[in-house]
Amino acid sequence: MSSFGSNLVLRLDPGDNAFKDRVNELSGENVDLCFQCGGCSSGCPMTQDMDYLPSKVIRMTQIGLSEVLESKTIWTCSTCFNCEVRCPRGIDVANVMEALRQLVLRKKHDEVSLDDLSAEELRELPQIAIVSNQRKLTS
Ligand code: SF4
Ligand code: SF4
Repeated sequence: MSSFGSNLVLRLDPGDNAFKDRVNELSGENVDLCFQCGGCSSGCPMTQDMDYLPSKVIRMTQIGLSEVLESKTIWTCSTCFNCEVRCPRGIDVANVMEALRQLVLRKKHDEVSLDDLSAEELRELPQIAIVSNQRKLTS
């Protein structure tokens, strides 16, 4: 057995918990329930365009890494809810993604703006993409 595994201790600052608690409050979820089974990530149809897998976003939130707010993943999530169906702990990962986006949007940063889309793009894009985009502008 590796001498590394059993001695690894993760220490959290109170500020780390504040970030996690805020995400839990906004999402209505409890990210502490996640035990990193990876089910959400294995069923996610968008992982090829994500920088962090959905399960990693949950883990980063659990341990209070607010750097997760800079992740491309929270904007790439299409809110398809596959992860919610697959999660054995009942976590709706899409709600967590939405909460993380809200935290970014409340800093007045728009990742995607409808105004930037051309008339042709608005006509050609799938409706689900437009709806997802509008959800991402909700704060
Ligand atoms: S809701 Fe988002 S994170 Fe969950 S499976 Fe769909 S695209 Fe992936
Ligand atoms: S499916 Fe649920 S328990 Fe498993 S890694 Fe994803 S959020 Fe965590």
